Amino acid sequence: MGPPGTGKGTQATRLSAAHGLRAISSGDTLRNEIHENTDIGRRARPFVESGGLVPDEVITEVMLAGIDRIPDDAGFLLDGFPRTVPQAEALDAGLTARGRKLDAVLDFQLDDQAIVDRIVSRLVCKKCGRTYNTRFHPPTSPGQCDNCGSELSQRADDSEAVVQTRLKTYREQTAPLIGYYGERGILRGVDASSSADVVEREISAIVRSLGKR
Ligand SMILES: [Zn+2]
Repeated sequence: MGPPGTGKGTQATRLSAAHGLRAISSGDTLRNEIHENTDIGRRARPFVESGGLVPDEVITEVMLAGIDRIPDDAGFLLDGFPRTVPQAEALDAGLTARGRKLDAVLDFQLDDQAIVDRIVSRLVCKKCGRTYNTRFHPPTSPGQCDNCGSELSQRADDSEAVVQTRLKTYREQTAPLIGYYGERGILRGVDASSSADVVEREISAIVRSLGKR
């Protein structure tokens, strides 16, 4: 868990590759269950098609369906879920019923100003989709894609106003999970201000300390 722009998606990809964990993202799992027209996929479909929020109990069942597709002896990594305390409670109940549990929750920590600075300096190539960051990962020639030479631009979602709204939602709805998992003794803080390589080493050490991978 962690606010937008703290590198969770990048680290989920790296961690799953390095430790043989299956990464389960809420967006991909939701699309997959709907595409395969499973029972839970049919329940989730109207919310997705109307552009509304998928209720806590439905998104939790979607994620549990994703977990059920993974062999019992394989480890998994949840990305983008749970986002609220009711989701976390429903997840715990579902995992307990399956004889599984979470071993650790990684809390990506970065102050709000650093998050805003990172996100508003993102650039994307409209043609090939490659992403850049004017501060941390700039293109070789300013405003131009290294890969295909097309013009780079900012995503509409990456404006400062949109980022501030997403941060507010995170602080209100998701930050209470820090207390929830802290009480259960499985919360591990991650300093997300470092480079992706340094963060990856820190997280890998945490995963190894769990003694399972
Ligand atoms: Zn390009």
